Amino acid sequence: MEELFRERDFTRIGYCQSILEEAGIATHVRNKDLVGTLTEVPIPEFFPALCVVDPADRERALALLKERFESDAQRSDEEWHCACGEENPGNLDVCWSCGEERAP
Ligand SMILES: [Zn+2]
Repeated sequence: MEELFRERDFTRIGYCQSILEEAGIATHVRNKDLVGTLTEVPIPEFFPALCVVDPADRERALALLKERFESDAQRSDEEWHCACGEENPGNLDVCWSCGEERAP
């Protein structure tokens, strides 16, 4: 078992975990059970930690996550056109004009 990173935001851990599992990398989240009980106490030792089961997967896992975050960041920089014809800034996931969700 090899830890990749700790993150207070459990949603982000879950997101990363799904990226890795999708790529066939076995993962484990430490401190999962503590989430929710310690929200008022920001102690990094108790943050959920995303781990790879096989330490040999570590480099590949980190590269995959980096790649994904870079493409996410790029996506949030790009303006997108809604079906209604409005142009929306990339950091919006729904059209500001009609409320339609951004197409994937
Ligand atoms: Zn729209």
